[in-house]
Amino acid sequence: MANSVFWKKVPSEKYGFINMPHAVCPVCNKVYTNGNVYASDHCPECAEEIAKAKNRERVRKYRAKKRAEAEAGL
Ligand SMILES: [Zn+2]
Repeated sequence: MANSVFWKKVPSEKYGFINMPHAVCPVCNKVYTNGNVYASDHCPECAEEIAKAKNRERVRKYRAKKRAEAEAGL
C-alpha cells in the first residue's frame, strides 16, 4: 500500500491532460507514477532494487541449503 497518493494532471498525447495518481517513494523521496501506485510502496527503480535484494537473499539461502545437504551426504 502506497503511503501518500495524490492526483496530478499530466499531459497525454491522446487526451490532452489526464489525472494520474502519484506517490512519493519512501526510499528516494521521488515522485513517481505507474500503472497502479496503490499497489506499490516504492518507485520502479527502488522496487527493482528491493526485488534484486530479495532474490540475492533467496539464492544465498538456497546455496547454503544445497551446501549443507552435500556436506551431510558425504
Ligand atoms: Zn525510490
